[in-house]
Parts: sequence; structure tokens; C-alpha cells
Amino acid sequence: MKTYNLALIPGDGIGVDVTDAAMKVLGAVAKGRFAFETTSFPWSCEYYLKHGRMMPEDGIETLRGFDAIYLGAVGWPATVPDSVSLHGLLLPIRKAFNQYANIRPHRLLAGVEGPLKAEGFDILCIRENTEGEYSGAGGRVHEGKDNEVAVETSVFTRAGVERILRFGFEQARSRRGHLTSVTKSNAQKYSMVFWDEVTRELAAEYTDVTVSHMHIDAMVAKMVMAPQDLDVVVASNLFGDILTDLGAAIQGGLGFAASANINPDRSAPSMFEPVHGSAPDIAGKNIANPVAAIWSVAQMLDHLGEAEASAAVLSAIEAATANGIGIRPGLNTTDEITAAVIAALEA
Ligand code: NAD
Repeated sequence: MKTYNLALIPGDGIGVDVTDAAMKVLGAVAKGRFAFETTSFPWSCEYYLKHGRMMPEDGIETLRGFDAIYLGAVGWPATVPDSVSLHGLLLPIRKAFNQYANIRPHRLLAGVEGPLKAEGFDILCIRENTEGEYSGAGGRVHEGKDNEVAVETSVFTRAGVERILRFGFEQARSRRGHLTSVTKSNAQKYSMVFWDEVTRELAAEYTDVTVSHMHIDAMVAKMVMAPQDLDVVVASNLFGDILTDLGAAIQGGLGFAASANINPDRSAPSMFEPVHGSAPDIAGKNIANPVAAIWSVAQMLDHLGEAEASAAVLSAIEAATANGIGIRPGLNTTDEITAAVIAALEA
């Protein structure tokens, strides 16, 4: 039987609760299929307050040897600025391990009512995860003075743009054969025009995939008005970040939105995490929806080559929601939803 070594970073707030739920489900699905060992790292805002950094200096090297990383959520804005917690942990991991494809599925689970009339949508958003608007290039001068200047430069490389689009084309090929590339190339005449050009170059290679070019402003309207027309959506770091919160909203809320940070060439571990944050407003109340976190476990299993176990987790989630469990905020506790998924797995 195969054994997987997993690094856990539960993080802050509900990140801890949903990681716990996700690991219980992983334990249930593993039975008779595979073994796993977890090593939990306390890297979080609490860790920052004690040590002055989000993770130790050798944190990245420590993670490198694992088969996968599972992360709950990180951030506690009351004590640590979000810019510090994000740039001190999540972003360095995504960049160091070349987890350039951030994959976020958006569809309505059985029994879940979204805010839209549309029901039959199934969108796979692929967000560029290592460069673009979040490359961290920039600076500030004359801080606090009248002549203060802040500059933040987006960085788009041919290698970076081409590999994320190629990944999107491959995904489209394995799904319904349609790719929507999202830019703002009417206004951003260098980086986004370049992105459009690379999309067209690749479209000539993937003649079995149909391609739409959408501007981000039209795209947000499309996701609300006609999400059923979308299949694979590829966007830059910033646009993908925003679009996938909208995706989460139309699928019933952040509690349902899973995400995988994938290193497609497998030269380093990939990282799996729900889209949501640490939700300080509901932390410690046992009311966080663990479905997104559990769905991320299904993504992790798929990446590890455990396709059957991955499908079993997804069916169990859907069996629970079809029974009305966890379909609205406040309806069930985190523990009840987790127990319902495990019961469906073991049924
Ligand atoms: P958030 O996702 O934590 O919460 C937004 C809203 O959604 C809150 O009202 C929250 O209660 C609700 N919510 C989120 N997840 C839920 C769940 N599983 N079940 C039920 N309700 C849920 O976003 P925020 O409030 O903007 O950020 C809080 C902190 O999390 C910040 O420090 C932020 O930087 C951080 N954050 C971290 C990540 C990450 O670790 N990947 C992602 C987003 C935000």
C-alpha cells in the first residue's frame, strides 16, 4: 500500500477547524486504499507574533520533501497586517514550488441553492499563481509625505503566460473543449495584449479547443448572466483571484469553493487549500462549512493519482448536501457536516 507524506499548515481561525475536518475525511477515505502520514506546522499569525516571521527561514526547504501540502487558511488582521501574513507564507510557497496553476472548480453541489437562476454551470477557473500583478515588484518613496509615490509593477513573462495558457488548453481538451481567456487588453496595452497574442498562438496548436477572449469587466457580467456557457476560464493572478470569489458566490458561498495550487511538472509539492480565509468572525464557533476544505482533499487525491478515492470524496460530499446537510450557513455545525460526509463515504 502506498504511503503519502503530507505537510499540514492549519494556519489561523477556521483554517484550523476545516483542516481538522478535512483530515478526518482523508482518514476515512484512506481505509483499504492507501496510507498517509501528516506533519503539522504551526506557521500562522500566532507564530509570527512569537517569532517575527510567518515561517522559519528554512520553511520552504522543510516543505520540499513532502508529497503534498495541505493548508487551512492564514491571516489574523487584528494582530498581523494581511500583507505580512500573505507575503510571508502563502505567496512564497506558491512561487518557490512553481505552483503556477491555481485551479478552482465552480459548480452547484446537489441540494445547494446559489443566488442565481442559472443552475447547470460547471466552470473550471485557472488562475496564474506566480507572477502578473502579484509579482511583488515595486516600492514606495517619501512615505507619509505629500509627494509620496507608490509603484507596483505587474510582471508577465512569456514562459509564465505560455505555461498557464497551455495548462488551460489541456484542461479544456479533457473537458468540454472550450477555453475563455480573460484580460483587459483594451486598457492594458502591453501585458494584456501580449497575453492575447500568446493565447492566439496556442489556439493555433489546439485546434480542437474553441477559444473566447473576454475582458474582465464583461466576464464578471457573463459569470452572473450566463455561467452555463463557460467551461475552462484562464486569467491572470489578480483577475483570477477576483473572478474566483465571484465563482464561490454563485456556487453558494466561500464554504463551497475549493482550490489547488498545482506544480504540473511535479518537481516540487503542490498545495491544496479552500479558497476562503480564516474568517475571524466565525472562528472557534464550530460553524465553518468544511465542504470547500474537503473538496480540496479530493483535488489533492486526484493529483496524487488516487482518482478513485478522489471521486469517492466528491460523491460523499454531494450525498451529504443532497440530504440537505450544510447547504445553508448556520444550518449545521462543522462537526455535523464532516460526520455526514464520512457516513456517506462509509455507507
Ligand atoms: P474570509 O474568507 O475569511 O471570510 C469572508 C466571509 O465569508 C466571512 O463572513 C466568513 O465568515 C465567511 N466564510 C468564509 N469561509 C467560510 C466557511 N468555510 N464557512 C462559512 N462561512 C465562511 O475572508 P476575509 O474576512 O476577507 O479574510 C479574513 C482573513 O483571512 C484575512 O486575514 C485574509 O487575509 C485571510 N485570507 C486568507 C486566505 C488564505 O489563507 N488562502 C484567503 C483569503 C483571505
